[in-house]
Amino acid sequence: MEFENVSVVITGGGSGIGSATTRAFLAAGARVAFTYATSVDEARAIELEYNRNGRRALAIKADATDPAEVERAFAQAQEAFGPVEVLFANAGGLLKRSRLTETPLSLWQEAFAVNVTSAMLACQAALRVMEPRRKGSIILMSSLAALNGGGNGASHYAAAKGAIATLTLSLAKEVGPLGIRVNAVAPGLIATRFHDIFSTPEGRQAGVTRTPLRREGQPEDVADVVLSLASERSRFITGEVVKITGGQELA
Ligand code: NAD
Repeated sequence: MEFENVSVVITGGGSGIGSATTRAFLAAGARVAFTYATSVDEARAIELEYNRNGRRALAIKADATDPAEVERAFAQAQEAFGPVEVLFANAGGLLKRSRLTETPLSLWQEAFAVNVTSAMLACQAALRVMEPRRKGSIILMSSLAALNGGGNGASHYAAAKGAIATLTLSLAKEVGPLGIRVNAVAPGLIATRFHDIFSTPEGRQAGVTRTPLRREGQPEDVADVVLSLASERSRFITGEVVKITGGQELA
């Protein structure tokens, strides 16, 4: 039980990678408060399944881009499970595919709100608790898109995930002296509803063919790396953006 009683907050924990990571932390003994926007059924199912088995899970409906809702979510999380020790700021998404020349300002702004502002707000809320305790680990959600520009019509998304990669570096320097580590994960093609919605089967197959490990990643492939970055085993690692891609970018 590597994370026995450790207080963890995860944004966007009701589906995909967030849900797999929520489950992995719960299985490792952590107390996990996770926010969700729309995935109410999956969020409630996680709560029921783990609380019935003696674990501590709390699902909180909250818009990760709304400062008041983020504050409320962290207050609820801490009332239930004590000071947050690990944050996984996972909420985000592509929203839609759009060539830059056809991208309305509203889509650009929404992409930055959902992917960047959400992470910034979660970091602020977590750091208000972590800094005085001089303890904590933050993992942000970037993407391979930050490093290779992303797929078709994804410039708004790739730029936002690039901002996350840079924020990881800035924040690691800012809070490292206070004993807080900040890292990010940069997944490649992971089989979640993200690609069910935005990618074609042919596009996904082409991705697999380019990938040395010859498969799509699974949400659990990312969850395992998040736990490892949160763990004491990574105690001297900060400011890293860890690719989880099966080598896709090498082709
Ligand atoms: P997903 O759609 O299942 O997960 C996205 C999560 O973000 C959902 O739980 C959603 O509710 C949450 N979210 C989005 N906007 C929100 C808001 N305003 N408030 C609260 N929650 C909000 O897909 P996923 O693939 O699990 O994506 C999780 C993260 O991983 C995203 O940030 C995504 O950009 C990133 N990512 C995914 C891939 C991939 O291939 N699937 C690759 C790289 C990065």
